Amino acid sequence: MSLALYRKYRPSSFGEVIGQDHVTEPLSNALTSGSIHHAYLFSGPRGCGKTSSARIMARSLNCEKGPTPNPCGECQSCRDLVANGPGSIDVMELDAATHGLVDDARDLRDKAFFAPVQSRYKIYIIDEAHHLGPGAANALLKVV
Ligand SMILES: [Zn+2]
Repeated sequence: MSLALYRKYRPSSFGEVIGQDHVTEPLSNALTSGSIHHAYLFSGPRGCGKTSSARIMARSLNCEKGPTPNPCGECQSCRDLVANGPGSIDVMELDAATHGLVDDARDLRDKAFFAPVQSRYKIYIIDEAHHLGPGAANALLKVV
């Protein structure tokens, strides 16, 4: 029992997420209705599924048959973004705890204006966003 649940269990769609209906339902509804915002903030204790949820959101948004709460699992984007998959060139993950610097945020801000390479959306997942310094946070505010 040394491996925490959140490490052992990596869902790839909101339907596979257990016990977070207050999060998955509104996000699924937003995907279905197409009322999608520029940025989403996931907050909660460590291991509750913030990063997993953000990855699922990215997969749902970029599925070729989407945006959909039920990614097809077969298109290039779905295969790239499956849990423990290779990842997508259009979905970038930054760890603010190690990239909490202003330069990175400025770099992100500049690149965010280029179109995605092969997906519908270009998506940035910023982990540990509370580590962003004020300069970096300001640079990002201009994007969202
Ligand atoms: Zn798909």
